[in-house]
Amino acid sequence: MKAAVVNQACTDVEIVEKPIPAIGEGEALVEVEYCGVCHTDLHVCSGDYGKQPGRILGHEGIGIVKEIGKNVTSLKIGDRVSIAWFFEGCGTCEYCNSGRETLCRSVKNAGFTVDGGMSEYCVVTADYAVKVPEGLDPAQASSITCAGVTTYKAIKVSAVRPGQWIAIYGAGGLGNLAIQYAHNVFGARVIAIDLNDDKLNLAKEVGAEVVINAGRENAAEKIKEVTESGAHVAVVTAVSKVAFNSAIDCVRAGGKVVAVGLPVETMDLSIPRTVLDGIEIIGSLVGTRQDLAEAFDFGARGIVTPIVQKRRLDEVADVFQEMRDGKIQGRMVLDMKKKD
Ligand SMILES: [Zn+2]
Ligand SMILES: [Zn+2]
Repeated sequence: MKAAVVNQACTDVEIVEKPIPAIGEGEALVEVEYCGVCHTDLHVCSGDYGKQPGRILGHEGIGIVKEIGKNVTSLKIGDRVSIAWFFEGCGTCEYCNSGRETLCRSVKNAGFTVDGGMSEYCVVTADYAVKVPEGLDPAQASSITCAGVTTYKAIKVSAVRPGQWIAIYGAGGLGNLAIQYAHNVFGARVIAIDLNDDKLNLAKEVGAEVVINAGRENAAEKIKEVTESGAHVAVVTAVSKVAFNSAIDCVRAGGKVVAVGLPVETMDLSIPRTVLDGIEIIGSLVGTRQDLAEAFDFGARGIVTPIVQKRRLDEVADVFQEMRDGKIQGRMVLDMKKKD
């Protein structure tokens, strides 16, 4: 089978030929249909979270179960399932037992600590592979497996209420879905902030009421003007320290800032601002299996529609470069069967 792996120098992605993996007890073999490309893949590729030469990348995989191992009761052959960043938890620790399984200290992550979905076949831990509902396009499901569930969860933890203002920093692959979940599912009023006018135009089309180009305007000031005293909530999907600092400035007293983007930097945090205005800053990482099932359901019912573009597996290095160059609109999804 063909697979996209981290090269030996941990500098880029390469396509290699590998044997189809064997499954063990509690596992299933999935024939991958689609796998989305995420910013995190670039970090894994460059060894930013630890070097993983030869690792099969990909944590936005969707495919069909072809084989099941011993003692598998949660899946059957023919099921369509996800291969997500949250690949497996220990199932017994304080996090796994309190609805916070993504924080498990023994977590396995697809496309990082275990082989992922950018491959023609992939092995999953059956109890952790979330089923894709009928009626959800598998390429769109791929995008929900990371970008969708991550933004859905971030808005969920922000506890934004219908009619409240939410500022979403970054209107790219994650931001576009964040806008849709915030507006269509949570009934919030959305302000989208980005540096790119094309992305902001797209943001308007999917539900942003106000858009701000932070290259031309002071985003925090503009948000305070529009909302009178600041946004109730800000969700930062942008991979930039500047966006994080602006998000803290843009929320009203008692506001929450949810951090999703992962710039390898430190944000400035005024202690008086945090204390006197009661600002909460929350990190949010992907979502649990239940969050993913919920995020899929909104997709299946057409309430949220990921914008995806299909590419061939052997184009993966080009897609990575386009991502580094910031050229991508919506989400690129590798189609394992695409030949042209
Ligand atoms: Zn991702
Ligand atoms: Zn655990």
